[in-house]
Amino acid sequence: MKKFAVFGNPIAQSLSPTIHEMFAKSCGEDISYEKIEAPLDGFADVINQFFMQPQTIGCNVTVPFKEQAFSMAVHRDEAAAMAKAANTLMHNSAGELCAYNTDGIGLVADLKSTGLELTGIKVLMLGAGGAARGVVHPLLKAGVARLHILNRTLEKAQAIATDANSDKVAAVSPTDLLSHYDVVINSTSASLSGTLPEVPDSILAGCQLAYDMVYAKQTDSTVFMEHAKKLGARQQMDGLGMLVEQAAAAFTIWTGKEPETARVRAFLRSR
Ligand code: NDP
Repeated sequence: MKKFAVFGNPIAQSLSPTIHEMFAKSCGEDISYEKIEAPLDGFADVINQFFMQPQTIGCNVTVPFKEQAFSMAVHRDEAAAMAKAANTLMHNSAGELCAYNTDGIGLVADLKSTGLELTGIKVLMLGAGGAARGVVHPLLKAGVARLHILNRTLEKAQAIATDANSDKVAAVSPTDLLSHYDVVINSTSASLSGTLPEVPDSILAGCQLAYDMVYAKQTDSTVFMEHAKKLGARQQMDGLGMLVEQAAAAFTIWTGKEPETARVRAFLRSR
């Protein structure tokens, strides 16, 4: 049996075991996938112990350990290097720790699942935390023409734009916004506390898609999605699809197999 886990603190809420067990079943893999709450001051030790177990293949990492996971690794993929954070770890054949960030692959796959063409579009990203960092490189790779980052702490948006080193990416203040963006992505955690990040109504009213990385738990909608809908945004989505797609990308890194995601999304949505 291949051994996997997700490490976070807290971790009880994680849907990752359910998602990966469904992937494994559909791909004919025999796995165990645990949720492990790592102590806030003991993440590295817990990870090292986990990788010493002979059946271990890899793990996911979530808040607040993504930056530490990145720092511990010997090898990093491009998205992790840009994000300075990793959500997926595994050992290579030499026993060295490799770090990946699949959040952006997950977001791009979820956006594309709607039939949206990303090439040449203008994207406004609200928020400049770890999740925002993780999706910049994959969005550029997917061909977006503009990626503007608006955050209540401007310096954090500026730091991401500087690291992106692309004339397509810029940190913007509310007065520098373009008059129109095709897609507005809310990468802030504001919806978790039922609040809205600052963005002019006209921007949400005119966009094709308002995307909230937070996923709706009790209802099918977040406060951001409701707000965008009221203003007239054509489509609204939450981050459940991104969660499933980032997990699928991790599963492929570990096993080389590409799990089917539609059934898993539908199952989680129906819960
Ligand atoms: P961070 O804590 O690193 O960053 C949070 C960001 O949200 C910061 O830019 C912060 O602004 C901003 N913010 C928080 N509260 C507010 C508010 N009330 N108004 C305006 N801005 C606010 O978190 P992450 O970037 O790691 O995660 C962000 C969200 O994305 C989380 O809710 C997480 O659940 C979700 N996520 C979803 C994934 C998925 O697969 N669907 C994957 C990864 C993340 P400031 O910089 O000014 O503090």
